[in-house]
Amino acid sequence: AGSLAVNKGEITFDGVSYAYDEENLVLQDFSLTIPAGKKVALVGPSGSGKTTLMNLTMRFFDPTKGRVLVDGQDISTKTIASVRVATALLTQDPILFDDTVRANIEYGMSDVTEEQLRDAAKAAAAHDFIEELPHGYDTNVGEAGSLLSGGQRQRVAIARALLKSAPVLLLDEPTSALDPSSEVKIQKALETLFVGRTVLMIAHRLTTVRDADLICVLDKGRLVESGTHDELIARDGLYAAFCESQFNEASATASDDETSGKASSTSEDQKEQVIS
Ligand code: ADP
Ligand code: MG
Repeated sequence: AGSLAVNKGEITFDGVSYAYDEENLVLQDFSLTIPAGKKVALVGPSGSGKTTLMNLTMRFFDPTKGRVLVDGQDISTKTIASVRVATALLTQDPILFDDTVRANIEYGMSDVTEEQLRDAAKAAAAHDFIEELPHGYDTNVGEAGSLLSGGQRQRVAIARALLKSAPVLLLDEPTSALDPSSEVKIQKALETLFVGRTVLMIAHRLTTVRDADLICVLDKGRLVESGTHDELIARDGLYAAFCESQFNEASATASDDETSGKASSTSEDQKEQVIS
């Protein structure tokens, strides 16, 4: 197989079906083109096939039927190494190695200058905490990054993705396991990472999803709705129902908080709902 030659990073799913076993198709005839540089949000109930789409784009496995194309090239005919170079994946659980912060950020890259390393860490809001570690960039992160907090591990992973400068970025709820204050920092770092990249994201905050160029709603492995936030709200289908139900749940939580004496949510907070 040859190498994937990525130019701009347009992604096309062409009639993609996938089954982990003989019986169940977890994706059924999924077709979608994400133009280079655009941001698409995937929304849908748990088990609807969102993560499977990301796994296919990374070539963790190939479609049972159909094709995944990057810049017009069927990735199943290209080397796995070249597909992984073109694509950065951020998940809830960043994979860190029992090595230094520096080695973890530079992972897979050669000839990284000190300046490039620091610029990536700064853009990922990681530089300041790294400098405060006992040996700075040469501090060992421990097994699976266990000496860092979840938010710090995520910022190291973002720095790695920035340095790698892959044109295709896949986000599988990278901030969903974090406390609100690290989530805010990481959200800013992610915005830096988005610039100039094709982004396919599974997000759990309505504000993140609402800003996408296109929102795709999956249900039981099928694409059932797609459009902008406003278009899908006007359509009054599954996406509108999601927004509605999550809004109501959050209002209920907010009033619980008030009775238990915690700070009450503002209406702006209430728009920040979990929808996937
Ligand atoms: P989502 O990310 O939308 O929650 P997934 O893509 O993770 O959905 O899963 C889609 C379906 O595939 C689910 O029914 C899930 O149980 C099944 N599935 C996911 N991963 C595997 C696996 N490794 N082996 C078998 N079934 C799987
Ligand atoms: Mg998932």
